[in-house]
Amino acid sequence: MKYVYAFDEGRGNMKNLLGGKGANLAEMKKIGLPVPEGFTITTEACNLYYDENEKMNDDVISQIEQSLAALEKKTGKILGGINSPLLVSVRSGAAISMPGMMDTVLNLGMNDITVQTIAKLSNDERFAMDSYRRFIQMFSDVVLGIEKYNFDLIFDDVKEEKGVQEDTALSADDLKNIIERYKQVVFKHMNKPFPQDPKEQLMMAVEAVFSSWNNPRAKIYRQVNEIPDELGTAVNIQEMVFGNRGQSSGTGVAFTRNPSTGEKALFGEFLMNAQGEDVVAGIRTPLPVSSLKEQNETVYNEFIQTVDKLEKHYKDMQDIEFTIEQGKLFFLQTRTGKRTATAAIKVAVDMVEEGLITKEEAILRINPEEIEKLLHPTFDANALKGAKFLAKGLPASPGAASGKVYFYSEDIVKAKERGEKSVLIRMETSPEDIEGMINAEGILTARGGMTSHAAVVARGMGKCCVAGCHDIKVYENEKYFTVGDKKFYEGDEISLDGNTGDIYEGLIPATKVEFSGHFGKLMQWVDELRTMQVRTNADTPQDAKTAVEFGAEGIGLCRTEHMFFEEDRIPIVRRMILARNIDDRRKALNQLLPIQREDFYKMYLEMGDRPMTVRLLDPPLHEFLPHEDKDIQALSDDFGIDCDVLKAHIGELSEHNPMLGHRGCRLGITYPEIYEMQCRAIFEAAIKATKDTKYTIDVEIMIPLVGNKIELDLMRKLAEDTATKVFEENQTTISFKVGTMIEVPRAALTADSIAENADFFSFGTNDLTQMTLGFSRDDAGKFLPIYKEKEIYERDPFQTLDQTGVGALIEIAVTKARKQKQHLKIGICGEHGGDPRSIEFFAKQGFDYISCSPYRVPVARLAAAQANLK
Ligand code: PEP
Ligand code: MG
Repeated sequence: MKYVYAFDEGRGNMKNLLGGKGANLAEMKKIGLPVPEGFTITTEACNLYYDENEKMNDDVISQIEQSLAALEKKTGKILGGINSPLLVSVRSGAAISMPGMMDTVLNLGMNDITVQTIAKLSNDERFAMDSYRRFIQMFSDVVLGIEKYNFDLIFDDVKEEKGVQEDTALSADDLKNIIERYKQVVFKHMNKPFPQDPKEQLMMAVEAVFSSWNNPRAKIYRQVNEIPDELGTAVNIQEMVFGNRGQSSGTGVAFTRNPSTGEKALFGEFLMNAQGEDVVAGIRTPLPVSSLKEQNETVYNEFIQTVDKLEKHYKDMQDIEFTIEQGKLFFLQTRTGKRTATAAIKVAVDMVEEGLITKEEAILRINPEEIEKLLHPTFDANALKGAKFLAKGLPASPGAASGKVYFYSEDIVKAKERGEKSVLIRMETSPEDIEGMINAEGILTARGGMTSHAAVVARGMGKCCVAGCHDIKVYENEKYFTVGDKKFYEGDEISLDGNTGDIYEGLIPATKVEFSGHFGKLMQWVDELRTMQVRTNADTPQDAKTAVEFGAEGIGLCRTEHMFFEEDRIPIVRRMILARNIDDRRKALNQLLPIQREDFYKMYLEMGDRPMTVRLLDPPLHEFLPHEDKDIQALSDDFGIDCDVLKAHIGELSEHNPMLGHRGCRLGITYPEIYEMQCRAIFEAAIKATKDTKYTIDVEIMIPLVGNKIELDLMRKLAEDTATKVFEENQTTISFKVGTMIEVPRAALTADSIAENADFFSFGTNDLTQMTLGFSRDDAGKFLPIYKEKEIYERDPFQTLDQTGVGALIEIAVTKARKQKQHLKIGICGEHGGDPRSIEFFAKQGFDYISCSPYRVPVARLAAAQANLK
């Protein structure tokens, strides 16, 4: 088995084996970019390491040794060599990029002897000492597990002793002193000296990278981003080039387009006389990449040309790491750049227009989940005018966030548990802060640039972030920050504007985003390419309006019970429920009729020609009644019913298993007058809307929780009889359809006979999941996390359809139903209608439409188009 590949043996499409970084280094080499030599240890070697109880395999070790020998030959340098020492970097690189999650060691190969040679060869003792002290610090942190602060303290001490501010002001002798003190720290922790054998250093570093695959922050990152644990990481060993060899050297990171806005302009930062981590660590403030021109025009021109070549080669925006060593440019890494949702859309649309990619490729490039982020609010412009401005930082990731400030991840998590919205404030973030970043509304840092950890990670999460706000001083330990002489303590409220970098005191209300032209263009292509209709679940005219703005083509589920809960009608609903005889019930229903009619009328006006499926009453009646003693007492006073009598009546209506109880069409069968009133309200509203407008109102009545054909037959007859009466009274007719939800397993299994009398089917996958899995929709949250952890179900089956189980039932139902009625209209209105993975499944089953909540409509449109392209 081959476990190690030289860079010139690999290719860009070998990501699974070589990791993203390794595959891209190989590809860059192939297209002739200046890349320092090296080799990649495969992800399979990492998996083998775990299979063999975290031991380095002998075969892997010997292949590393062989590749090292080859690298030594190519470079003419020897690892640990006295005359011409080779120094390497050791970097992790998984198939899917996990920025900052795993470990890196630079300058490996340094020891007490090679440092002297490097001093001589470079004619720069300071540079040699600085490289050695960096190596000891990094190796000790990453490989030996000695925390970084132990070294930072010494470094800061020496700086203070010498009275200097900048690291670069320390002399070679100062650095020697630091090195000696670093070595003492290592000895104290390890009880043995810092390892001097470079081969031993190398094997230890490779093993540390393998282990870092399972460090807590990498595990959390994988969980959040749904990256499988079994991928493993590759390790890249690469000859070092030095950005810290004086003022003609430097290092930086760049994006080929702006990752925040998508604008077609090189975007990045660099530092002269610095090594890799200095740029992203946010300790020194880097310069914009455009000013590289002033430092060295030849290098700048070469850089621009190479970057352009890279983007054209990969046909996507690239995120690049580069180093200039004494005026010579090297590319150390390229990868597909992470970007905001706004940027993703602009870049994709621009690239179609530049002729770089096709519309189909553009559509497949956008993650549908990302689209929803665009629909999130920005600050209300008027509220913003009156807001109290505090400070300005860099607009690192767009969006708007308001909340209470906290300084530590654990405090953010606790705040979230208390139901508070919070903002994480840090000097600068590091991967340890990941949980806080996930749970905060927004992130504010005092240090760091647009490519700092905070900025990159927040953009990936689609979370609002203001970085590098030098106007604030953060006292993390004391848990407060200051702006001028004003202090803000834990729990104080602030607001961040990720689009401008502005920070405000207090909470600011936010409003919806206006769509850019690019979004509209992309969605137009999406609509050309999708075949499934996208409807929405909406019960109010406002929701219906929002959904239509987002592109909904109809309402797939109008839950009528939501109309029953409003303050002016709940007393009538309760009278209807508590009526002891049909006359009293009819009296209450007669009062409800005009209210429901008005509701439907407004909905029809909002929807115009678009179809609207109205579902007749579904929940068990006890849900509308009070349960607390004081509320029952109030109702008894209100209705003039004896409290004990009322309690007994509520008792009669209460159920042990209400989700399997007296609900859905069972209500319509036992209290036909309720459904009759609802049908009447629908027909009367539709007739009025037809008269008042030029629309052709499309009426669809949906019967919930059918499990037996006869249930549907009875309810259909009830709807038709009601229609006949209403049409006679109004001397008019309108066309209408009666369909059913398929949400009881028996309905799926007998879908052929149910289809006989149905004009359409809509899968209620919430109930169908509940009943197929036997998991209560309300209580499964208690054990689902453990089920997911143990991988019994990979995902929450209420969010993403369980295709194996529930999906199998759906497949049976669709096949049987279509055999009975070839062109039966089939849709879905459970929560899964807005979930891209599930949408792909519904498309495969030949569904006509999906229906989801208003904010998911664009997500569903995109996912439906992608389903056609996959
Ligand atoms: C369903 O069960 O999937 C459904 C849409 O109905 P409800 O969620 O109202 O039970
Ligand atoms: Mg249901």
